Amino acid sequence: MGLRFFNTLSRSVQAFVPLDASSKTVGMYCCGPTVYDFAHIGNWRTFVFADLVRRHLTFHGYAVKHVMNITDVEDKIIRRVRETRSSLREFTAQYEAAFFKDLRTLGCLEPHAKPRATEHIADIIALIEQLVARGIAYQAGDGSVYFSIEKYQGCGHHYGRLQKLDFAAMRTTERVATDEYDKEAVADFALWKAYVPDDGTVAWDSPWGKGRPGWHIECSAMSMKILGASFDLHLGGEDLKFPHHEDEIAQSEGATGRPFAKYWLHGAHLLVEGRKMSKSLGNFFTLPDLLARGFTGRDVRFLLLSAHYRETFNFTLEGLAGARTSLARIDECVGKLRDLADGAPGCAAPDVTGSDAWLDAFTGALDNDFNVAAAWGEIFKWITVTNKAIAERALSASQAATQLAAWKRANSVLGIGTAITTVAPAEIQALLAARQAARAARDFKRSDAIRDELKTRGWMIEDSPKGAKLKKIP
Ligand code: AMP
Ligand code: ZN
Repeated sequence: MGLRFFNTLSRSVQAFVPLDASSKTVGMYCCGPTVYDFAHIGNWRTFVFADLVRRHLTFHGYAVKHVMNITDVEDKIIRRVRETRSSLREFTAQYEAAFFKDLRTLGCLEPHAKPRATEHIADIIALIEQLVARGIAYQAGDGSVYFSIEKYQGCGHHYGRLQKLDFAAMRTTERVATDEYDKEAVADFALWKAYVPDDGTVAWDSPWGKGRPGWHIECSAMSMKILGASFDLHLGGEDLKFPHHEDEIAQSEGATGRPFAKYWLHGAHLLVEGRKMSKSLGNFFTLPDLLARGFTGRDVRFLLLSAHYRETFNFTLEGLAGARTSLARIDECVGKLRDLADGAPGCAAPDVTGSDAWLDAFTGALDNDFNVAAAWGEIFKWITVTNKAIAERALSASQAATQLAAWKRANSVLGIGTAITTVAPAEIQALLAARQAARAARDFKRSDAIRDELKTRGWMIEDSPKGAKLKKIP
């Protein structure tokens, strides 16, 4: 049936047809982090989902251009810069660096472009000038430039595309200067904010005087600069639908007169133990918090990818422990397949006649609005069948190689990598050799004693057709 997913713009599941269907290129923009604090695992749910979308499109043969901006100037950042008495760049750099470190730990592919708002001020000003020239933006008495919703609608545009807005029930005459504003009001919002002393050293010159950009215009300017006036996909968390994304559409289409993003994908929020994540409730987790508890980036990625992106997901530490167990099952099976594929004398070429129909089922599940739960279901069914075949010695080396190749294809989308295998230190290897020697001499008392000794030192012996192997006890 091909890839299809829920487009917030049409409020329906639609087949994915890129704007330029012949070239197989796809432009994808995901609103990036606001670097005023460390990212929490809620944020990561959204970014890991964006990574899945990109990987799945790549799996389908699309050349994806993935853009993720860095919001490095907005209200919260300016407040923190003032409070910490640092420079803007010095302040944001620490959180930006931490963000990309986490991104790698979670196995996310680096976006192709990572524009910083502060490095696109000229593009932002040019976009506001276009809106002013079209009569859709105006400078108010406070010196700031605002987007006029009335003028925009007067030009034949519709404000309220992503979320139905009941203009009659909402306040419509106000003007808002803050980046994040009341969801109950439809108001003219700030594109360029006139300088106030609280802004400290954060200011740029503009045709409207000294000031700084509003948050919403940053994304319109950076996405269109890199991907063009119209592009394929725009992603973000559900909280960004209104006003941020609605404003992005209005600014972009108001300035260019062309349709902005074709498909909008919004991820539902992550809750912690059923509640909103907050510092005061003590349920606020960053990735380093979870690593400090002994979990890995793979464990966290697996868990974040276990639920459907449009459903609220409840994060628990038990869930994370469960993710680790599931990964161990995958790793064990893949390890056995690798041994089997390597073990054939001189031959581990994939058996092209072998079946990897499960891979089609896996792909089909993801094609269906990124149904990850069904996709994992296919993976675990495959593991059960494969384990059985291995136990019954019914899998040849080349069949194992075929299965491994299929797994690699699936994993190119899932991005869970492979387990890092720990190599046993020399004294442990020596004990294993002694145990093997004892067994060969039929001295089972000694071989059992050595096995127990290894166990107390944290190593398990696994006997396989290729001989005994050491495995670290988790
Ligand atoms: P921010 O750094 O606050 O601009 O947020 C970065 C991204 O994380 C945005 O796409 C948000 O919608 C998303 N986000 C924020 N909180 C959560 C949450 N609890 N669960 C999922 N996504 C979130
Ligand atoms: Zn944005």
